[in-house]
Amino acid sequence: MISPSSSIMAVDSTLSSAVGASVSEKDAKALQFIEEMTKNVDSVQERILGEILSRNADTEYLKRFQLNGATDRDTFKSKVPVVTYEDLQPEIQRIANGDKSPILSSHPISEFLTSSGTSAGERKLMPTIHEELNRRQLLYSLLMPVMNLYVPGLDKGKGLYFLFIKAETKTPGGLLARPVLTSYYKSDHFKSRPYDPFNVYTSPNETILCPDSIQSMYAQMLCGLIMREEVLRVGAVFASGLLKAIRFLQVNWKQFAHDIETGTLNPKVTDPSVHECMSKILKPNPELAAFITKECSEENWECIITRIWPNTKYLDVIVTGAMAQYIPTLEYYSGGLPMACTMYASSECYFGLNLKPMCKPSEVSYTIMPNMAYFEFLPHDDSSAQDSSRDSPPRLVDLADLEVGKEYELIVTTYAGLCRYRVGDILRVTGFHNAAPQFRFIRRKNVLLSIDSDKTDESELQQAIENASVLLKEFNTSVVEYTSYADTKQIPGHYVIYWELFVKDAANAPTDEVLSQCCFQMEESLNAVYRQCRVADSIGPLEIRVVKNGTFEELMDYAISRGASINQYKVPRCVSFTPIMELLDSRVVSKHFSPALPHWTQNVVVEHTWYERKE
Ligand code: AMP
Repeated sequence: MISPSSSIMAVDSTLSSAVGASVSEKDAKALQFIEEMTKNVDSVQERILGEILSRNADTEYLKRFQLNGATDRDTFKSKVPVVTYEDLQPEIQRIANGDKSPILSSHPISEFLTSSGTSAGERKLMPTIHEELNRRQLLYSLLMPVMNLYVPGLDKGKGLYFLFIKAETKTPGGLLARPVLTSYYKSDHFKSRPYDPFNVYTSPNETILCPDSIQSMYAQMLCGLIMREEVLRVGAVFASGLLKAIRFLQVNWKQFAHDIETGTLNPKVTDPSVHECMSKILKPNPELAAFITKECSEENWECIITRIWPNTKYLDVIVTGAMAQYIPTLEYYSGGLPMACTMYASSECYFGLNLKPMCKPSEVSYTIMPNMAYFEFLPHDDSSAQDSSRDSPPRLVDLADLEVGKEYELIVTTYAGLCRYRVGDILRVTGFHNAAPQFRFIRRKNVLLSIDSDKTDESELQQAIENASVLLKEFNTSVVEYTSYADTKQIPGHYVIYWELFVKDAANAPTDEVLSQCCFQMEESLNAVYRQCRVADSIGPLEIRVVKNGTFEELMDYAISRGASINQYKVPRCVSFTPIMELLDSRVVSKHFSPALPHWTQNVVVEHTWYERKE
């Protein structure tokens, strides 16, 4: 897969020499590839743009901008606009409806990847082409060679990874729509991967590919328990996924102990292929069952990960961005094991990797690999550039020309046909590896609240509050002020909304039942990804905390005492700063929770296929 042009001298990579590690020939090839890509960032980027533009020259989209066969950066930048998902929606809709003409890409769109970002409350559909699987796999193939530089002996055991597929649907035109990881795990690239001693998982493919997420989790955890002494690393894609697995163990450990003691599988696991593969793995083991009972029945779950999997060297989970809120909980359960954030990727494109995966979460920087797509950057602190209209496209900066310390919004041009597409991520350049900039993930634009893959922005929250406050009308009550908080102290985390109410008639104030209904109404108003996460128990019931009158004025006084301008003060619509949380919580007069699950059905633009259950 990796084909660096020069011949490979086993260990001449600056990466390996930097840490003084000796590496295998296979790893040396991968490291050499990283070196070549990062040394030649600009020429690789120029080549990639040229390739994309020449192969897509006859697409309807590019023809619209009259590049007339030009494949150079200047023409591209001066003629092709920077766009958002909403701008491309008409084209995407046509592809979804079955138009097979070359609209965005000259290569056929093989499927849609459903992003966790939403548009009008629904998941975004990202077009992809078959060969993108190779690019994704290429990035995956670089992760272990880098990790092996820092953690020796990973070929002596297994990885306990909680990996899942999700429901897939078909668009009216017959294209599959599913998350990028579902697409990858179901591909031959993953299913028929050659044996690699550095990448042996405790979970058999059948358990990962089981469409029922509960049965899948059950079987994967059971395998992890049975092979506990072989486990060298424990992971999931995001921190929230790993914590969900720990909670699953907390709820189900008695059943696991029973299965292991008797060598029989919980009858609730009905998937035939999971059954078959578990029958080969599960044997009566009363000693292990007693061990699990002893550890899990203890009140204190501190260090439970290292107690059950004592040979774990690190956790492999993303804890950057919105996931940083889970770091303290993961530290608690793992006794402070290192947390490796290995990769930065999205449904639009896989971007890059962390070349120092054992660094502290606060120091993680990702190196974008210039062969994945053509990347441009909109300076984030330059408000004039952000506001530029399409007629005078903002001057975007190339990957090789970024400046350390500055923040940028990531814009991508992909082989699959996204041109100058705003991903919505804000990144800060922290340094360079060779000529390649390294990025700290700062935040996703416009995201206020996030617990799992949900991303709720300010306008969605505002709309949800407006919808809920309709219920207060008959009580002559209105919401004077509000703010919100993503509470992740418990698993699953949940949204907390602080409300200051104006109650005209105290004798007819809204009851707990009404305020609980407001919680439910808010949930009903939030986007599809939020509601799906609720139904899947990845997010707990939304909570409204009513605070005393005058609380938000106190909040303003506090902000002003810390230097905010009275003129420009705005109520923060999301809070996390401890003194502010303490102030709010000390003024709470009542708490109310959503009494039911919100409704969730699949994306309306797509039809149901064989798989109808809610996840
Ligand atoms: P999706 O479109 O659902 O695939 O989500 C992709 C988004 O997840 C990215 O655009 C980022 O906002 C976020 N993301 C992916 N990888 C990371 C990472 N390593 N650290 C922080 N955020 C990430």
